[in-house]
Amino acid sequence: MRHVHDPTGITFSRRHFLAAATAWPVAAWFLPMGGSATAQSRPRLADYPFTLGVASGDPTSTGVVLWTRLAPRPLEPAGGMDPTAVAVRWELAEDDALKKIVAHGTALATPQLGHSVHVEADGLKPDRWYWFRFRVGEADSPIGRTRTLPEPAAQPERLRFAFASCQHYEQGLYTAYGQMARDDLDLVFHLGDYIYEDEGRDGRVRKHAGKEIESLDDYRIRYAQYKSDPLLQGMHAACPWFVTWDDHEVDNNYANDISEKLDVDPVAFLERRANAYQAYYENMPLRRRSLPRGPDMRLYRKAAFGRLAEFFVLDTRQHRTDQPNDDRPSPINAAALDPSNSLLGPVQRGWLQAGLIASHGTWNVLAQQVMMGMVGFLRNGELLYSMDQWPGYVHERLALVRFLAERRVPNPVVLTGDIHSNWVNDLRVDDRKPELPVVATEFVGTSISSGGNGVRTPKNLEQLMAINPCIRFHNQERGYVRCIVTPRLWQSDYVVAEYVTKPGGPVVTRASFVVEAGRPGAHPA
Ligand code: FE
Ligand code: CA
Repeated sequence: MRHVHDPTGITFSRRHFLAAATAWPVAAWFLPMGGSATAQSRPRLADYPFTLGVASGDPTSTGVVLWTRLAPRPLEPAGGMDPTAVAVRWELAEDDALKKIVAHGTALATPQLGHSVHVEADGLKPDRWYWFRFRVGEADSPIGRTRTLPEPAAQPERLRFAFASCQHYEQGLYTAYGQMARDDLDLVFHLGDYIYEDEGRDGRVRKHAGKEIESLDDYRIRYAQYKSDPLLQGMHAACPWFVTWDDHEVDNNYANDISEKLDVDPVAFLERRANAYQAYYENMPLRRRSLPRGPDMRLYRKAAFGRLAEFFVLDTRQHRTDQPNDDRPSPINAAALDPSNSLLGPVQRGWLQAGLIASHGTWNVLAQQVMMGMVGFLRNGELLYSMDQWPGYVHERLALVRFLAERRVPNPVVLTGDIHSNWVNDLRVDDRKPELPVVATEFVGTSISSGGNGVRTPKNLEQLMAINPCIRFHNQERGYVRCIVTPRLWQSDYVVAEYVTKPGGPVVTRASFVVEAGRPGAHPA
């Protein structure tokens, strides 16, 4: 089935890195790599190369990924770079003035990977802040702030993080990230729809460059356009991120090898997916374990913030079966109940279950994409559910919450994006049965910008809550969710921007909900 060639069949040589490090000439704009034939030529670099900023991600207690991508002209193919490898110096310090350097080196930005840099700094102290920057020739990148996680056996008193999703560039400004950068957070989780694939349209807040994206160059340019946003760059420079994707990083509502448009041949679609996945890897602070292999990429992974919280970052797009009922809103009928439907796929599901029973975390967090609460909408007297969300895969959904309950997984919390609206949901094994005990809490975070200015009190809210007793809160404003986690209490603040179509929209905390450790169920703070 998988006939797509592997466009990323490259390997990194440690020796190559060391050679580059010792040969670093401070005054040169560039150190071209790849032998004496190219050493004479000076790659084109008329402009500042760090236009996309810096980022860090996937921290452990001893290390973190430092990221940048050279793109002197972000909206040109290859970011305006010549097809030559470039040595990029990096340094990491214990202070914000970068005086006390504790690690440094030289990484190679290669044309195969869009001149991205993914440094895996290691040997660092647990649970502390670091500052880093890159240098090419005489050009310095902005300084990024990052941190390591506490040691696995540590008992941290507090974690402050935010989760966000859905940042359509045309539909709104990233006002929410401006506030997030002032929140003094340890971590950010991005739950997908980092970019959108559709063509540029007039009459919006901003305009996508080009047509609907399909080629590797298309996806690279789209990321470059998004990453040119100063508020997004500012938040990436403020703390490490754990990222995962949803559908729009490839194609709206795709499922595994099946495109949104059902007439697309799966082999052709997998070529597009390979392009999209490679550009995602290039533009995110991911570890080398996530390097794509053709159309496949390992994105699900876990991280522990000491014993306070264990995070399972899931991928519910790449491994899922096709949406039942042709992806139309449907009752939970035979097609939705089919036990062969899966959002996780058997391998990821087994990995998740093994991780949950081995966890030492007080809080066990699933950072994922689509709504797990079984929320039905009345249409013509019938209760309909989204087949793109967990209700379309309801056998797996019931079994997963039953697993959490039967294995007594401590304090499960589900974090969700995708639907451009805020929700707090009590999760039961079957949410249609309010007489069952609450097992977990789901916090669904709204979009950063997708959908434009939001709605504070949706129409039919009372009816929606009456039909679906799992819902504790719902609105449709733009923003993100800030979480403050201690061994005794989880608090989620729903932070919203009053408008995103003009700069300067006021940002306020619209609602706060808490969960007490050992007592399932969310309550207003
Ligand atoms: Fe979205
Ligand atoms: Ca989505």
